Amino acid sequence: MLSPFKSWRYMREMCNLEFEPLQRQRMNRMHLIRELLVHAYREVDLYRMKLDRAGVDPVEVSYPRSFERVPITSKHELRDGFPHRQLARSSRGSFLRYSNTSGTTGRPLLLIQDIRDISYKYASILRSRALAGVDPMSSQVRLTPNECQPCLPDGSSPFGGSSRLPGDESGSLSSMFVFLEKQVVLPLFHQRQMLEPFWAIGSPGGHVDYDSYLGQLHAAEPEVLSIYPLYALLLARHIKRNRLDPPRIRQLIDFSAGLATPKMTAFISEIFGVRTAQSCGGCEFARYAASCPDDPNRMHIAENYAYVEAVRPDGTLAAPGELGNILVTSLHSRAMPIIRLEPGDVGRLYDEPCACGRRSRRLQHGGRIQSLIRNADGRWVTGAELWDEVLFTPGVELFQLQQKDEMRYEIRVIESPDTVLQDATLLNTLKGLLGERARVDIVRTSALAPERSGKLQLVKSSTFEDFRPRTSAATHSVPVN
Ligand SMILES: [Zn+2]
Repeated sequence: MLSPFKSWRYMREMCNLEFEPLQRQRMNRMHLIRELLVHAYREVDLYRMKLDRAGVDPVEVSYPRSFERVPITSKHELRDGFPHRQLARSSRGSFLRYSNTSGTTGRPLLLIQDIRDISYKYASILRSRALAGVDPMSSQVRLTPNECQPCLPDGSSPFGGSSRLPGDESGSLSSMFVFLEKQVVLPLFHQRQMLEPFWAIGSPGGHVDYDSYLGQLHAAEPEVLSIYPLYALLLARHIKRNRLDPPRIRQLIDFSAGLATPKMTAFISEIFGVRTAQSCGGCEFARYAASCPDDPNRMHIAENYAYVEAVRPDGTLAAPGELGNILVTSLHSRAMPIIRLEPGDVGRLYDEPCACGRRSRRLQHGGRIQSLIRNADGRWVTGAELWDEVLFTPGVELFQLQQKDEMRYEIRVIESPDTVLQDATLLNTLKGLLGERARVDIVRTSALAPERSGKLQLVKSSTFEDFRPRTSAATHSVPVN
């Protein structure tokens, strides 16, 4: 009540609106989009230039069919000329939080958030807990390859020497955010404990001491385990193989930071003996979609928090249930607006009501766009389909499939310690996905190299660029993460 952070109120608004008819949710969202676009056009150089160049009047484009004329934004454009090109003029000098995704090397993508934006982002995380049916204040252990965290305006951590952008007085406030979040809010207020990622950044990604992680989970007995789905799969296999007692997760396994396919979800839930939920978002959006217990494989979109679109390669909107390239607009980011960002994911949107009673649209995630393969028959095959089949082929512990062209592939496989891999079985599975005419070389290996983000990219496509809307594909690449 007393603080400027209205997250609880915002969460209740988000949760209540979801039961309203979809048409009402759309009207509410259109109103927010119009405000956002006018604000971005007036205050932010990046968007003024983009809209002018595209000949788009910000007042006229709040309806979905006309909003698709608003140019797509790449992560590259959020970095280029930072912060003055992206920061709203009226926000300069005000109370701002800088954040980035830890664990990446090279030039990080920094984000600037004002208090209202932070409150909404936090509300979206609370909402994901409420949707999953757990107390938003549950104790939590987090085990993910990387983490969105506060930083100084130049992207560094205040614990590793501080510096400021020239002419920017918000550095000291930013370091206070870093201190508050890391030392006070997360560990004490939210009882949140973080575990080290499986593979260190830049490491070749070999052996993992699963027993040590299980020991830490046994000791913590958290209500919620927030975990990267591949980590959860590897831990579950280790538990099953060695007939171990699973650690007690009291309420929920919450998949975060990556893809959980239906088979993964079912297997992990069975081994740990606990429900699962998933959400998606990232540093730019916190959690714009989250699953409910009635449908653990699709996620309800927070319609008055983010506008999510799925678009075809020609830039038009995909029909409900049709695979599209996902674009996300953050409806409450004013200091640094994020409009039609292409995060690099594919998926399908559904708008029929859910058994839980919510009317918000649901997103079925198809994985990263860099994992989307056009196969030998000309069909688009998602990373999610490939993970779901190949990870559960007997004898496969982990794999990495590299597409060379529509016909030729190489798959590197780490074999299960307890099941022999039959080449014929694997080839049969792969031909079902990649087409009968596909030629696949199988290579056995003992380690797969994670990406700079610490995540494993199991499928690397050489054809995905053709699925991206031409306007964005022509100018910028999507970053791997
Ligand atoms: Zn539902």
